[in-house]
Amino acid sequence: MAETAFFDEGDLVAVLTTEPLGKCLDYKAPEGGCFAGAFVEVPLGPRRVLGVVWGPGEGGYDLARVRGVSRVLDAAPMAGAFRQFLIRAADYTLTQLPAMLRLATRAPGLADPPGPRRIYRKGWAEPDRMTDARARVMAVLGDYGGAAFTLSELAELAGVTTSVVKGLVKQGVVAEEEAPRDLPYPRLDPDLPGKDLADDQRAAAAQLSAAVASGQYGTTLLKGVTGSGKTEVYLEAVAECLRQGRQALVLLPEIALTAEFLARVEDRFGTKPGEWHSGATQTERRRLWRMAGEGGVGLVVGARSALFLPFRDLGLIVVDEEHDTSYKQEDGVLYNARDMAVLRASLCDAQVVLASATPCLETWVNAEAGKYGRIDLASRFGTSDLPDMRAIDMRAERLEANRWISPTLVQGVKARIERGEQALLFINRRGYAPVTICRACGHQIGCHQCDARMVEHRFLKRLVCHQCGETAPMPHACPSCKAEGRLAPVGPGVERLAEEVAERFPGARVAVLSSDLFASARALKEKIVEIAGGGADIIIGTQLVAKGHNFPLLTLVGVIDADLGLQGSDLRAAERTFQLMRQVSGRAGRAERRGEALLQSFQPDHPVIRAILSGDEENFWRAEAAERQAAGMPPFGRLAGIILSSTDVAQVFDFGAELARRSEPLRRIGAEVFGPAPAPVARVRGRHRVRLLVKGPKGAALQAAVAEWIGQLKPPANLRLSVDIDPQSFY
Ligand code: ADP
Ligand code: ZN
Repeated sequence: MAETAFFDEGDLVAVLTTEPLGKCLDYKAPEGGCFAGAFVEVPLGPRRVLGVVWGPGEGGYDLARVRGVSRVLDAAPMAGAFRQFLIRAADYTLTQLPAMLRLATRAPGLADPPGPRRIYRKGWAEPDRMTDARARVMAVLGDYGGAAFTLSELAELAGVTTSVVKGLVKQGVVAEEEAPRDLPYPRLDPDLPGKDLADDQRAAAAQLSAAVASGQYGTTLLKGVTGSGKTEVYLEAVAECLRQGRQALVLLPEIALTAEFLARVEDRFGTKPGEWHSGATQTERRRLWRMAGEGGVGLVVGARSALFLPFRDLGLIVVDEEHDTSYKQEDGVLYNARDMAVLRASLCDAQVVLASATPCLETWVNAEAGKYGRIDLASRFGTSDLPDMRAIDMRAERLEANRWISPTLVQGVKARIERGEQALLFINRRGYAPVTICRACGHQIGCHQCDARMVEHRFLKRLVCHQCGETAPMPHACPSCKAEGRLAPVGPGVERLAEEVAERFPGARVAVLSSDLFASARALKEKIVEIAGGGADIIIGTQLVAKGHNFPLLTLVGVIDADLGLQGSDLRAAERTFQLMRQVSGRAGRAERRGEALLQSFQPDHPVIRAILSGDEENFWRAEAAERQAAGMPPFGRLAGIILSSTDVAQVFDFGAELARRSEPLRRIGAEVFGPAPAPVARVRGRHRVRLLVKGPKGAALQAAVAEWIGQLKPPANLRLSVDIDPQSFY
């Protein structure tokens, strides 16, 4: 796959399209010829579809019948190393190549011709009269700051017709502009003075920069507690990458992180980076996709899918909070962005930095084995230290019914409020109460499509299924025994905790951070900034708050239920609990004030709780690694999950059983198959789900064997089969 291959007009070329065809198709190169990697439009039946020139055509057909490439799109050809990456990623995840190409072409308007086009942004006037529809347009314009939209995008986001927008254009409320398409991003200046680094930070930055300057592949674990300056350090590696004239990508797990993060990039480099996430407007996404290919953007900050941008010359990928579960795509193509970052970097001579306070076990083991480098940032920057961590033994606390904040924790919170500091109460459950039970008959309200309980969301005044998203009004009578007024919430969610806080701490300013309580990412970002500035005394939060926000006034973290994660049957339950508790505790005392973390637990002697409190992480990892090794579990063995689903319960079990019987291709590599078993959530959206689990030895060619194995049977038409290599969740 030579980078410079050029095909003259009429040459046979193989084109990979985004259609699920299973192979490339031959076409004739168009007038003027084309490069390998060129984005093209080709005829397919009566349609024209998007494709990429993948290499020379196979030939062997009647040449007269081969059709021509319709046209070459106005975009930089895809780099050879990137094409190689898509092939390898497809092989690894057992995904068809066209589906991989779809991930790499997720930008709007790729086939649009160049030239100026109309964009719409906030104008200067107020509307002559306000209507609902107009108010919605204004709200969208406000939500996105000064961003530009296409006409249809603005109308769609506001839920209005395009004529509403056009009416506002006439009044100057919305400005319509002719904009040149897709300008390069302003250049980031790596040589602006950065912060004065502490000694260990400087050494770490120098080591990473030297690795980037080497122009070779390598992966380094950058480990340090929250606040130790990992971000400051890897921004120096970004600076070196920019000096080398190459591109850098920083992956972040949560779009809520970017507000603060973008400001830090701007501080360091004088201007903002390119942003890639679902909250970015189509206009921005299109521009960024193109500029990645042309080299017109130096640094991209994005969510996991940014890994599939067609960078021209990627020299560095940072995966921040590398242990975060959101890096695993659990829908469609099942890939882990962290692992794919390593693959991509190894194919384009780039460096990878995996940054975390609590790396995932795989990464820790790879570093132990010397496959990855490891740099530890020992202490926090400045005067602040890790918080003091203690368990509150809930067996010894006196709590009334339907109360979850122990007297000890209440005391702690009061003390902070009196000192003008902040306290965070952490509970990893959205909604009001996880279970609604009928006190007359004991019935628990469930989702009619899934084997899951409905969760009461009082704020929305509805019951919500966290599995499928189905919602229903809260009934007055029990759906089972029809008794009126006997339905009662059981257990706490973040909203119910907020109620208790309001009663216990009257007068305190309370902020609730839960992903479902914010209409937009921007609204959430604004809230976080407000809290950081002292706009709340007590913060109540779900998992969302564990991720890297800086709250300088925060000095106490109370974990309402530290035992919650310990109960799962999940392979990673201990690891997850450990990471989450460490992350949450790390929120306390990030500035000059020393913090404290209090973990409410009914089993304070549990090994995981003890490891968290002792702070002896290496010990925890070693013990956990030994356990996995003894069980032949990842990373010392390999797993693949097979999920079968169908509306027909007998069919899905029969098919699973037949697969299990034909396990010869798996046995040949020393792998075993377990199941079929009903998935822990056995029904989702009315489809019955069955899982099989393949477990193989470490060095085995697992993907090839799995492909051969499932290739033996053709699933019936309404049965869905998906393969999850290295599964992270087992629901
Ligand atoms: P981490 O990424 O490990 O959580 P950060 O890089 O975000 O840590 O650093 C935590 C805070 O300390 C940030 O506000 C950061 O700007 C500040 N900080 C870290 N190192 C320095 C330094 N050398 N000089 C000034 N401020 C620093
Ligand atoms: Zn459901």
